[in-house]
Parts: sequence; C-alpha cells; structure tokens
Amino acid sequence: MERLDAFMARANAAYYAKHDPFADFTTAPEITQVFGEMLGLWAAVVWQSLGAPDPVLLVEAGPGRGTLMVDALRAIERAMPAFRAALRLHLIESSPRLREQQAKMLPDAQWHTGLATVPPAPLILLANEFLDALPIRQFVRRGDAWAERFVADGRFVEVASSAPPRPNGGGTFGVPDGAILEYNASSRDFVGAVAQRLVTHPGAALFLDYGPAVSAPGDSLQALRAGQPTDPLGPLGEADLTAHVDFAALADTARVAGATVHGPLPQGVFLTRLGLFQRTGVLARRQAPARAAAMIDAASRLAEPDRMGRLFKALALSSPLTKALPGFA
Ligand code: SAH
Repeated sequence: MERLDAFMARANAAYYAKHDPFADFTTAPEITQVFGEMLGLWAAVVWQSLGAPDPVLLVEAGPGRGTLMVDALRAIERAMPAFRAALRLHLIESSPRLREQQAKMLPDAQWHTGLATVPPAPLILLANEFLDALPIRQFVRRGDAWAERFVADGRFVEVASSAPPRPNGGGTFGVPDGAILEYNASSRDFVGAVAQRLVTHPGAALFLDYGPAVSAPGDSLQALRAGQPTDPLGPLGEADLTAHVDFAALADTARVAGATVHGPLPQGVFLTRLGLFQRTGVLARRQAPARAAAMIDAASRLAEPDRMGRLFKALALSSPLTKALPGFA
C-alpha cells in the first residue's frame, strides 16, 4: 500500500522514462510556435525591466521536447540580442529520456533535477504544464472525520487521517461528506522555493497550467493514454497522470515567501495581450491559405475560452516591488 502522491511520483517517473509523452497528449508549444515566441518576448521585456542583469539565468522547468525554449530563443535573438548574449540556459528535468531530446535542441543548456542546484543569480523562469505533473495527495471527508487515499493493487484504500494540511487555501468547514480535497505539497514546495529565490535575487517566474483560479473540493486526478482518458491506477507508467493546479494555494505560498504575485489570469487573456493573434497574423500572411487557416485555428485553440483559453491560467511571481509584468497589467 502506497500513499497516492508516492504512487503518482513513481507512475510518472516510469511514464516519462519510457514513453514519448507527446504521443499521449499535446501541449501549447507543440500546437503553435507563437506560444514559445510570446513567452520569449515576455522574458525579454522582464529582463529589461529588471535592469538588464548580465549574466541572467533563463530557467525552464519541465521543458518536454525543448520546443518552447527553441521558439523563445529564436524570438529573443531577433528582438533583443543583448538578452540572448546575457542569458545562461538552465533546464529542470527529471526524465533522462527527455533530457537527451532536449540536448539535441538546446546543446548549451545545463540540466538539474530541481531548483536547489540552479546557481544563485538573477533569474527568469518559465514553466508550461510542469506543475500539473507533480504528485498530489487526496483527502476524503467521512462524516466528522477525514481519510487519506492510498493505492493498493490498482484500487484506492482509505486510511483514517487528521484534516488535510491547510487544504487548498481555505478551511475544511462546510466540505460535504464524501468530498475530496487535494493537497499538492510538491508544487507548493517548488513555487515556494522559486519565490524565495526571487526575494534574494532579482527575477520573475511564469507558470502556465490548468486548474481553477479559486480552490474547490473535487477529484481532478486524470490519466491520459494515446489521447484517451484511462484509469489513473491502471498499469504503472503506461499513462500520463496529472491533476489540476491549485493556483490560489500557490499564489498564497508565494506571497507568504515574500514574492509579488501577478494573476492568475486566464491563458487566453494573457496570450492575447502579449500579441498572440498579431504575430500569428504576420506568420499566416506568409503562408499558403490552407496553412494560414490552420495557424489561426492553432492560436484560437490556446486562447478561446471553451478550448484552452479559460481552464489554463497564467500565474507570475516576481521580486518584491517589481512593477507590473507584461500581460498582467
Ligand atoms: N513544458 C513542456 C512539457 C510538459 S510535460 C510542454 O509544454 O510541452 C511535463 C514535463 O515536466 C516533462 O518534461 C517531464 O519530464 C517534466 N517533469 C515531470 N515531473 C518532473 C519532476 N518531478 N521534476 C522535473 N521534471 C519533471
């Protein structure tokens, strides 16, 4: 028997070690090059507003195939070569398989398994669909008491527990019988550590992921295999396990650590403000009409509320007293 977060960590480590995750799901940078370009330009404007520190670390957490960073660097090179020259690339990636793929695209990067070994320096961090892969715990309200979910032989087992630790930014009062509260210690630890860095070094961090802006009870654990939902407790390492990101709890964690919090904002609002459709229009005009329509549809997929535009959020952190960040003003 294993606590759910331990099971999820093991399942995802096995999954990312042996599968090409992009056969099972697609992410914004794989949908359109403009996504990475927008984040690159965001980082460039932030770098300037930090006073153009040189050197500066450009850090990505969970870079996948490296697509986002390749697109970001191309846009940075074109728009702000001085930033390209000043930046040192650091990637946080646990999967040896994906590190190999990333090294082909980004040979001058340095790799880390977590934030702790990233050198202390001014930094700009980007993370798309990283936090949703980090393991969660689930607590179930049972009458006046609480139980925690463990996994044994492909099934959930409930074990009596105390109330969940500071559940999702709120109290446990009024949570109905049988309801589930999720608690993500790993993503809080990660975001808290980033926030602490930003207190001691100038910088900013941008997290894009899916989840509600306001914490709410519910079971958000999901598994995808070949693009289809499947049993999260099925064969270990055969499906990608994710959970909704609790943005309110992460914003709280960052504030407590002393960072300034921007957002969360719906991803569609954020990307549209950064110029997603203008840039897509420029690229589309250079294409054959059929390609142009596909490019505009790809941008719409990221931005439209009933597609990825609303469920996905952008949350940024910055050093205390940083003025408004691009897209959040
Ligand atoms: N950002 C990419 C990939 C998202 S998939 C994109 O948008 O396409 C999640 C990424 O996070 C993968 O690269 C995965 O290997 C990495 N990852 C998952 N859990 C991790 C952990 N605990 N530590 C470091 N990297 C992790």
